[in-house]
Amino acid sequence: MMSAMDIHQRDDLAFPQSLPEFQRLFPDDAACCAYLERARWPDGFACPHCGAVAQPFRIATRPGILECRSCRRQTGLLVGTVMERSHTPLSVWFWAAYLVTSQTPGMSAVQFQRQLGLTRYETAFGILHKLRAGMVRPDQDRIGGRAGEHVEIDETWVGGRTRGEGRGIHHKTLVAAAVEVRRRKPGTAQDKRKDGRYAGRVRLAIADDRSANSLCGFVESSVMPGSLIVSDDWSGYASLRKRGYDHHAIAECGDPEVAEEFMPIIHLVFSNLKTWLNGIHHGVSAKHLQAYLNEFTFRFNRRFYPFNAFRSLLGIAGNVEAPTFRELYSGQWQHPTYSGCLR
Ligand SMILES: [Zn+2]
Repeated sequence: MMSAMDIHQRDDLAFPQSLPEFQRLFPDDAACCAYLERARWPDGFACPHCGAVAQPFRIATRPGILECRSCRRQTGLLVGTVMERSHTPLSVWFWAAYLVTSQTPGMSAVQFQRQLGLTRYETAFGILHKLRAGMVRPDQDRIGGRAGEHVEIDETWVGGRTRGEGRGIHHKTLVAAAVEVRRRKPGTAQDKRKDGRYAGRVRLAIADDRSANSLCGFVESSVMPGSLIVSDDWSGYASLRKRGYDHHAIAECGDPEVAEEFMPIIHLVFSNLKTWLNGIHHGVSAKHLQAYLNEFTFRFNRRFYPFNAFRSLLGIAGNVEAPTFRELYSGQWQHPTYSGCLR
């Protein structure tokens, strides 16, 4: 089962592996427009007005516009993308999306402005803001549901400052997580400790508490019914079987060796998440946490597919997602106070 984001790499939509390659592929707006055109019409331009399939007229001074040879009506290449109605050159948008896709997430607008060679800070801020908005939209479909795979579930405390307040979980926020566990094909390079297991897609959400309602509610909104779920034996997960899941509870998960043996992948996710959150301006407040969980999820789930991340951010991932992106970039969305968690 493939979701809308699982678009395979296409040879005609090359994704650069390095900065020089990027500059060679996208030297100017015309190259970016050609890329947008191929993304939308893999088999060649088809006029959305009259349906005619033929090379359109191109207007040198307006590279984002294609004109139909039959009906003479115009089609905008930027409609529904993040670049629509922007005065910034397309090549700058492409460069920005590439940086956001491939660089560390903590990049500030000032660093971004310098990298892009922009004179105005506000322009850099606006671009960064819009691109990051594309990452904060939570993935909608539930994970799991594939034969031969299972889903690890656990919860952890993140964030908060405890300095000067003694030990404990002051101001920390409870985060519930689900991650698909996949297995490498026999004969491929394997991490022996993990027995060839690796993480598929992840879901993360703030949980109110460790009650069955919170935790099982998270599972129901994040994981396909019928999936095999592995968790610890906390009572909050006890009703998963009744709720339509195949559930294996592991006893004594507090023991690091037991945890490593039975739930290695989710602990890896938590460790990555905490390192990443701490790298963002020394931690994230509870108010903004869900937005960052969503960004982490976006990056994590696309870590093998940078070309998908790149196209998603520009809003050209595919026609399926275009209306969503139009909505997203309409200006109603605000970063990072958004709190669309899965509760
Ligand atoms: Zn036409």
